[in-house]
Amino acid sequence: MPSSAASDYIGRFAPSPTGPLHAGSLVAALASWLDAQAHGGQWLVRIEDVDTPRCVPGATELILQQLAQCGLHSDGPVLRQSERSGHYQAALNALIAQGLAYPCGCSRKDIEATQSQQPARHTAAVYPGTCRPSPYGPGLQGKATRAWRLNIQTVREQKGLPAMTEWHDAQLGQQQQNVAQEVGDFVLLRADGLWAYQLAVVVDDALQGITHVVRGADLCDNTARQMLLQQALGLPTPQYRHTPLVLAADGEKLSKQNGAQALDLSHPLSALNAAAAHLGLSAQSGTVQQALANWTAQWSTH
Ligand SMILES: [Zn+2]
Repeated sequence: MPSSAASDYIGRFAPSPTGPLHAGSLVAALASWLDAQAHGGQWLVRIEDVDTPRCVPGATELILQQLAQCGLHSDGPVLRQSERSGHYQAALNALIAQGLAYPCGCSRKDIEATQSQQPARHTAAVYPGTCRPSPYGPGLQGKATRAWRLNIQTVREQKGLPAMTEWHDAQLGQQQQNVAQEVGDFVLLRADGLWAYQLAVVVDDALQGITHVVRGADLCDNTARQMLLQQALGLPTPQYRHTPLVLAADGEKLSKQNGAQALDLSHPLSALNAAAAHLGLSAQSGTVQQALANWTAQWSTH
């Protein structure tokens, strides 16, 4: 295990325990681990279980066991987001105190009714700012609070941010998104009382001192929202690298939802070789430890 003194790099792998690891999630795990090793850094595992209805009992233990079989061990305690509500509440309180978050009384139907056309597949309707407080909008107008949202317009004004959020992705190159236009004021605390993924990730990345986020390309379009939240909360922005997705036979993203097979780890090196091949690394034989060491060397010159 590398010495934490070797570098300031802190990376992480942050699976949701909605099932065991599949081929796609192993790619993300291996890429984030290799990037940390190649930088002489630390690698932390964080269980993203804020969306409790989607979590499967026992999946966390299974994922940790699968990682261990692949020789991937967290360099610190495994953090579980379900135990961290106090941190998320503190962040929301800070945003409210700065006038950067506001209550929303809209149901999903209310928001869909404001759309001139159906949102594209896999995308949510853009929130039109119905409940944004004056002088920008009418506010709740007597509706009960259902959710809390980030006031992007006020964040931009207070922090002097341009409309376009831009960043350099270590894999994908220059990226940009106009969050206000493409997403709208997004949710921080959901109507069902659960913390939104974006808020939990931003708070934990900062509290864990994460410097480098290496994750699957399916999460790329969360980056601009997370950067806006970092800026709203006065938190640093990590470097981002989004790795190519493993696609299912139908060309869709491989996921637990479309029946991705759980990894067969009777031969961990075979599973690791498949993940490494997807990352453009050469096939290895021998032990898992030797393979990981060779891939780390390859990753450094990648
Ligand atoms: Zn609303």
